[in-house]
Amino acid sequence: MTKAINTPTTNTIPSGRNIAEALSEAQKMVDLIKTPEAEVTDEERFWIAKSTYQNFADHLNKGFLEYRKSVTETKDAALTDWRGEGSVLQDVMGREYIDILGGFGLYSPGIRHPKIVAAAKAQLDRSPQYSQEMLDPLRAQLAKVIAKLTPGDIQYGFFANSGTEAVDGAMKLAKLYTGKSGFISTLKGFHGKSLGALSLLGKAVYRKPLLPLLNGVRQVPFGDADAVEQSIRHALEVGDDIAGVIVEPIQGEAGAIEPPDDYWPRLRQICDKYEVLLIADEVQTGFGRTGKIFGVDHWGVAPDIMCFGKALGGGVIAMSGFFSTAKIWKCMEPNPFMHTTTTGGNPIACAAALAQVTVLLEEDLAGQAAEKGEYIKTRISAMKEKYPGLISEIRGRGLLLGLEFPDDEIGYKVAAGLFSRGVLTAGTLNNAKTIRIEPALNIPYTLIDEVLERLEDTLKNLE
Ligand SMILES: *Cc1c(COP(=O)(O)O)cnc(C)c1O
Repeated sequence: MTKAINTPTTNTIPSGRNIAEALSEAQKMVDLIKTPEAEVTDEERFWIAKSTYQNFADHLNKGFLEYRKSVTETKDAALTDWRGEGSVLQDVMGREYIDILGGFGLYSPGIRHPKIVAAAKAQLDRSPQYSQEMLDPLRAQLAKVIAKLTPGDIQYGFFANSGTEAVDGAMKLAKLYTGKSGFISTLKGFHGKSLGALSLLGKAVYRKPLLPLLNGVRQVPFGDADAVEQSIRHALEVGDDIAGVIVEPIQGEAGAIEPPDDYWPRLRQICDKYEVLLIADEVQTGFGRTGKIFGVDHWGVAPDIMCFGKALGGGVIAMSGFFSTAKIWKCMEPNPFMHTTTTGGNPIACAAALAQVTVLLEEDLAGQAAEKGEYIKTRISAMKEKYPGLISEIRGRGLLLGLEFPDDEIGYKVAAGLFSRGVLTAGTLNNAKTIRIEPALNIPYTLIDEVLERLEDTLKNLE
């Protein structure tokens, strides 16, 4: 890399109306998208990288440029997302990275899984969106498939685009069915950032500046079933009521935190006892990530409502949903317009999701996650002994792993060291005490070994 990408140009006019330029700028990128990869010139690649950096600064958010390793660790040659396949990402300038971030659980079947891409493309050529009036076959069939895949009596569902929408929908369903209004969620829990889901979130940094949020949400420590029961009792004692308890099977964003083994079975008992709905937020844990098809499958628990997202669309398209039992869903029947969305569960998303399920089952992605997760944990545990003081813990299930360091600084150094060795992980300048390892569930062992060698090399260097 010789020419600097990260130097803002001085002569751009970042704002102001200019219709002619709106057209020419749009046309420029459309033309580039359509150019076959081999024919994109070096000049065009450089233009893409440089204007992307500039556009982030001028039109998205300068803040990202200060925290992302793709900028801070590449000096003046920021990485620009461009293409990928399986577990390998290539930036627009052709630099390759092994992806162990997996889009935080988005890329469970790998990047551009051929079967999922083929299904989405085929549907794109038939009908990309709904008429909004006729009955749509893909959405109906996908609901049937999810009903068969999920535990217990889960039977009916609604599709949306993002995980946070799935959570908002689940909250509405719980309120409508129970006629109650409060929720219990967990400290450090993550459910998305729309105003509804944000109310459940377990971290002050995202909630506090936006208060007041929804009333009646109580956060309790994750993994503590007694705290849930106590919180329901407190609510009842002061005249509040609780519609649902919403929990991630294994906390993802918090850093792959597993609950005690009796936690989910006890949540089930407590929710039954107080007639409160048990809502599993499987947005990150669903579809094989933790070594079972769903996170709750580790404990054989059937929730009343399940939320899906991220990997549901097979890493090809945005897709989410929430599902429940026939008994609960009945409250949505008198007025099916109580909850709607124009683009949620569109035909391309459903095509991708249906193909995703075939890949999940045919390739036994859950089994692969279980086996590969154990392998990585064993290898990293050995490194923990070999390089004392650098790694505090490796934890998690399947390929939802958390690598914890004594402090942010060591964590960032490891993340940056991996990055400079061609491995893409999470871990930003201000948040690196725990790095999540969430590669594609079908990442080949050769690449896993490559990553582990580069990790060991990084640790050796830090020692
Ligand atoms: C990512 C995530 C969400 C939010 O999904 P978005 O698509 O980012 O809105 C909700 N819950 C959990 C458990 C998640 O990991």
